[in-house]
Amino acid sequence: MYTGDQLREMFLNFFQEKGHRLQASASLIPKNDPTLLLTVAGMVPFKPYFMRQVEPPFPRATTCQKCVRTPDLERVGKTARHHTFFEMLGNFSFGDYFKEEAITWAWEYVTEVIKLPADQLWITVHPEDHEAREIWINKAGVSPDRLLDDEENFWAAGPVGPCGPCSEIYVDLGEARGCGKPDCAIGCDCDRFLEIWNLVFMQYTRDESGTLTPLPRQNIDTGMGLERITSVMQGVVSNFDTDLFIPIINKIAEIAGINYKDDPKKDTALKVISDHTRAIAFMLGDGIRPSSDGRGYVLRRILRRAVRYARLIGIEKPFLEQIFAVIQSKYAHAYPELKENENFILNHLKLEEKNFQATLEQGTQILQDKVESLKKQGLQEINGTDAFHLYETYGFPVELTEEILAEEGITVDMENYQLAFEEHRKAAKEQSRQMVSSAENMALINKARELGKTEFVGYRQLSTETFVA
Ligand code: ATP
Ligand code: MG
Ligand code: MG
Ligand code: MG
Repeated sequence: MYTGDQLREMFLNFFQEKGHRLQASASLIPKNDPTLLLTVAGMVPFKPYFMRQVEPPFPRATTCQKCVRTPDLERVGKTARHHTFFEMLGNFSFGDYFKEEAITWAWEYVTEVIKLPADQLWITVHPEDHEAREIWINKAGVSPDRLLDDEENFWAAGPVGPCGPCSEIYVDLGEARGCGKPDCAIGCDCDRFLEIWNLVFMQYTRDESGTLTPLPRQNIDTGMGLERITSVMQGVVSNFDTDLFIPIINKIAEIAGINYKDDPKKDTALKVISDHTRAIAFMLGDGIRPSSDGRGYVLRRILRRAVRYARLIGIEKPFLEQIFAVIQSKYAHAYPELKENENFILNHLKLEEKNFQATLEQGTQILQDKVESLKKQGLQEINGTDAFHLYETYGFPVELTEEILAEEGITVDMENYQLAFEEHRKAAKEQSRQMVSSAENMALINKARELGKTEFVGYRQLSTETFVA
């Protein structure tokens, strides 16, 4: 059985043998890209090459890229396949090879290297991409009845710019893994048909009027989720049951004094916490600090959500440091920043955890009281000021409040929340202008100094070629 580490290495080796330059994962903080909060895919660090803003220093690259996708946050633990943080394997062509190589190599990789049975695989193509269909059938040798059209197989970085059709590879994990509905097929949100690999054929550029013009130099961008391919290769029922997660899950269960697979509700909590602690470790590892806006807020939200889920399974004391130790021992050989930035990671992790644990209990109680009083009044919406008070005083990110209330069928007046938030921001600005060095402020300053001592060591060079240990 292949481990996650081996599968990461096999992919990168395969594409190096096909002339690709191995590049270390770039940071989760996109470089010079104000349009993106976080790195969401393997292609992100290569955007300037694809757009020809920078001449690519090599024509082909292969990477295993750290990614965070906030939109998938609430799916974590509900599906077998979604994470906030995950590793995306990819091969890239910057105006070099195109569809034929991308398709035949992908097929060679899945059927000959990792040897997935062809009769369990499905391929989707864009209905107008006759060229890709023809290559899948005549060059790769895929049986035509395994090919399906999918209108949605079109990728674009935005409304204007490079774009193109894509092809995706799915594994049919069998009826037992499906939802059982009669119309269950590719595209169903259940876990039967698992999308493992997306091949994007960047062949056009789109202008303001929506007109597609063929690019003079066409690109390839592919992405395969390491956790997903590992789950398939290890024959387990979810990404969380692979060796990439089990040590983390077991440690959390041990701290909570429970066993994984005893109680589905507790399992969901274990999955969420294991996912979120990885995201926390890697985000801090790239120098992101918890804060009240931007990517720091994403981190804060994920961390506090992990602490709340931990409370649901009986963990009341600080525990993140212990989980970080497991994550570090599992991943630091591939991602040395987890070791190099250990002090920075631990300091922020412990401080943020301690602060939230101190107010979580009380905030939860207040929220419960609120729910009861709303229910008595027959109301289904909490006002924005109350939601803001929960954030400001008890550290409940509004999305967390929304999520907890959704279980009770109650919503948050978000418009009102934004107003309260803005008002507070303005007042805080004014206050900081007039701030005097009171004893309280001195204590804060001292704390900041203490934290400042453990500096973030810095990003590894993008060109580091020692990625695979
Ligand atoms: P899905 O439809 O399952 O949400 P996607 O179409 O959004 O996946 P892509 O944007 O095509 O995913 O990304 C390329 C690959 O990255 C996917 O085929 C999958 O293997 C992996 N991937 C995407 N999102 C996640 C996630 N949240 N967690 C783990 N792996 C992911
Ligand atoms: Mg998705
Ligand atoms: Mg998809
Ligand atoms: Mg996809």
